[in-house]
Amino acid sequence: MNKNSSNTMALTPNTSNKRETVCIFGTGDFGRALGHKLIQSGYPVVFGSRSTQVSSLIPKDAEVLSHAEAAQKAAIIIMAIQRQHYNFLTPLAEILRGKILVDISNNLKINQYPESNAEYLAQLVPGAKVVKAFNTVSAWALQSGTLDASRQVFVCGDNMEAKQMVMDIVRALGLTPLDQGTLLAAQEIENYPLQLFPMWKFPILLSFGLIVFFFFYCLIRDVIYPYVYQNTDFSFFIAISIPNRICPILALILLALVYLPGVLAAIMQLYRGTKYHRFPDWLDKWMLCRKQLGLVALAFASLHVLYTLVIPIRSFVRWRISSQIVSQALNNKTEPLNNTNAWLSDSYLALGILGFFLFVLLGITSLPSVSNNVNWREFRFVQSKLGYLTLILCTAHTLVYGGNRFLSPSSYRWYLPNAYMLSLIVPCIVLVVKFVLIFPCLDKPLTRIRQGWERNPQYSE
Ligand code: NAP
Repeated sequence: MNKNSSNTMALTPNTSNKRETVCIFGTGDFGRALGHKLIQSGYPVVFGSRSTQVSSLIPKDAEVLSHAEAAQKAAIIIMAIQRQHYNFLTPLAEILRGKILVDISNNLKINQYPESNAEYLAQLVPGAKVVKAFNTVSAWALQSGTLDASRQVFVCGDNMEAKQMVMDIVRALGLTPLDQGTLLAAQEIENYPLQLFPMWKFPILLSFGLIVFFFFYCLIRDVIYPYVYQNTDFSFFIAISIPNRICPILALILLALVYLPGVLAAIMQLYRGTKYHRFPDWLDKWMLCRKQLGLVALAFASLHVLYTLVIPIRSFVRWRISSQIVSQALNNKTEPLNNTNAWLSDSYLALGILGFFLFVLLGITSLPSVSNNVNWREFRFVQSKLGYLTLILCTAHTLVYGGNRFLSPSSYRWYLPNAYMLSLIVPCIVLVVKFVLIFPCLDKPLTRIRQGWERNPQYSE
């Protein structure tokens, strides 16, 4: 078992009544918040500061001394000071020899310095055991006790014993330490709080691009074309009709894009005859953001449902229905019920309702609190089998919406097909390829490859 894993550590903190004194350098926001929390957890705290005057903001049970005096009172020193001020430590190098220095600092930019702050600290004070921790917890969260959002504390360091002692403190504060290995991991840990939803970037940018494309596409077909040829002003379509076209289109395309990388990966594995050859980076990244793609797709599907609910109260729709009734009354002629149309319309709605229901189910099972409660097979069943069923239902919902006017030339405007037809391209490709992959002549070798069998060992790395 990996010695670095936090699983190998004791699960409970050191429960002996007497806790070791912890020294904190710096009486700023973080130092004070951490000091409060440590005192609450039973640790004697001593601050090392440039000014030994006790202010009312400093926890009253804590001592405030000079850096040198404070360092002598504790084996663990937490550096609640910005990196650019670390050089004041150089004259203290002898006092700090053998001490555990905990670097909690963050930077303003990703990879701001060539080396991590923790490695820089280790270079400045070579005799100390440097551990990186606490940088993902905010002073506000520590002070207010609102630790629900970020209980995880990434910890790394070259000295196992020092790391273990810091992890004990982390646990005593009610936080969860995650051992990230040696100090080499510090740069990554420091970059972590600076990332802004890294997995969401691709789905959001892609959605934005698709929204812009389909908005102008629908504007040309549904607003500009009638204006040019029939002199009719349908510009109000921009408010509800066009968004209600774009939302289901995006939901369907994005849902298909959740399953497309899996299909591409299967084709690659079949072609290479091994699973031990790395996928290209773009495919790896695409696979990693499938959950986010699915959740964005679900958001668009939900918006489609809301937009659809308001259709009966729209003035344009009420006007169209009443003018049809009036025209039938004037002509003294009622149109007979078209059974085919009734079937198509009801099937279209039924497929949409079922598709949306499964879509929501998929979204719910992707939540960590739910997925943690199902085993791996159950999770795979929901995300793969139910996922494909959702894709089939939503694709069928769109196909039936097209109904018998699907390929009729009259539905083209300026040679442009209806926008929903474009949305069917990716899902249909995914479903057809997936269907082909189910055939035993492909499924059997693929299953064997995924179990470790290799047809062309020269491909494996
Ligand atoms: P801060 O409020 O600006 O406090 C920094 C402290 O550093 C000062 O109060 C001062 O303490 C000391 N200091 C300033 N200049 C110094 C110098 N030239 N030489 C020696 N000491 C000096 O900053 P902070 O928000 O507490 O953040 C401290 C560290 O924690 C930073 O590295 C930050 O990246 C990290 N951090 C902060 C948070 C947060 O939420 N604030 C979260 C995670 C990590 P004395 O006056 O007592 O000497």
